[in-house]
Amino acid sequence: MSGSLLKVENLTKHYPLGAGFLKKTIPVVQAVTDVSFSVEAGETLCIVGESGCGKSTLARLLMRLVEPTAGRVLIEGFDIAGLKKNLLRDWRRRMQMVFQDPYSSLNPRLTAGQIITEPAENFGRLSRRQRQALAVELLRKVGMSPELMHRLPSELSGGQRQRLGIARALALRPSLIIADEAVSALDVSVQAQILNLLMDLQQETGIALIFISHDLRVVEHIGQRVAVMYLGRIVELAPCEALFARPVHPYTEALIAAAPVPDPTRIRLEVPLQGEVPSPIQPPKGCAFHPRCPLAVERCRIEVPPLVPMADGRVVACHVRAPTMGIPAEPITANSSLSPMAQQ
Ligand code: ADP
Ligand code: MG
Repeated sequence: MSGSLLKVENLTKHYPLGAGFLKKTIPVVQAVTDVSFSVEAGETLCIVGESGCGKSTLARLLMRLVEPTAGRVLIEGFDIAGLKKNLLRDWRRRMQMVFQDPYSSLNPRLTAGQIITEPAENFGRLSRRQRQALAVELLRKVGMSPELMHRLPSELSGGQRQRLGIARALALRPSLIIADEAVSALDVSVQAQILNLLMDLQQETGIALIFISHDLRVVEHIGQRVAVMYLGRIVELAPCEALFARPVHPYTEALIAAAPVPDPTRIRLEVPLQGEVPSPIQPPKGCAFHPRCPLAVERCRIEVPPLVPMADGRVVACHVRAPTMGIPAEPITANSSLSPMAQQ
């Protein structure tokens, strides 16, 4: 068996910023560094982290819109770097993206009907009747009236445009949808509708979903597995419930503490995030989070912590909370200067 639908191994993208004055000192943006994870068919993986931590670069690497500096992306066991043109085309058909701002990604001169049938047209001629039937089917699928088929994007609301973006992504029956900040530009009430739509569609069709957001609240709503990124690296990857109930990485804990809590019964952790996110051009040595981390010890300034598997199935990159040796039975909370984490 070829295994996971998608497997990412040590994926890295560093952008050199032009030529420096002195040849050997070209600054490099370390957008994504050593990222590994896999996604099974029909599964959702959420990717969360502050703006600039490399989420969109990661999405572009998965779509092979940019070439990795190192590492590889495997689709059903095949390295996409080695795919011949026609297979790459097939891969792109099976993997679709939904963006933050559907307005800029939808052709303003095409009608809603043309927009959603265009990808299918590119993969094979459709008769007028087939086109019409497909447009009606897809609009219905995303909860829009087929009468909206003749509207231009400018004649639709933000929520309707995002539904249209999703309909277009569905047109080619993909195996995976990557939604990059797909609800971030929408009002909170519309956000919930679009999230519910994505989750319903996934249940119905079995499409795998990579859901990218800077917003923890949105990710919590979706559930499933969550990868937390900081300065280009995954620092914790855990089942959603466990992540929110017992964050292990101090950055995850701080992010949760900083997020507005809609549920007042949940314990609020008091770990303020100190300072700004450092520049990805010269990220701090060792653990990139150490300058902001209340737990940092000498080792954190020197060595990059590897992702260590914990007994509950999560992986964490932290010298203090997830020591490299062995697999702790429980996330370590003893001797921490942070407030005690919610105990189960
Ligand atoms: P996110 O989506 O999490 O906000 P991005 O992946 O867009 O983060 O960006 C990660 C970092 O990489 C940022 O510092 C950004 O400025 C930088 N970056 C993204 N694309 C390029 C590029 N083409 N050239 C140089 N730097 C880039
Ligand atoms: Mg982004």
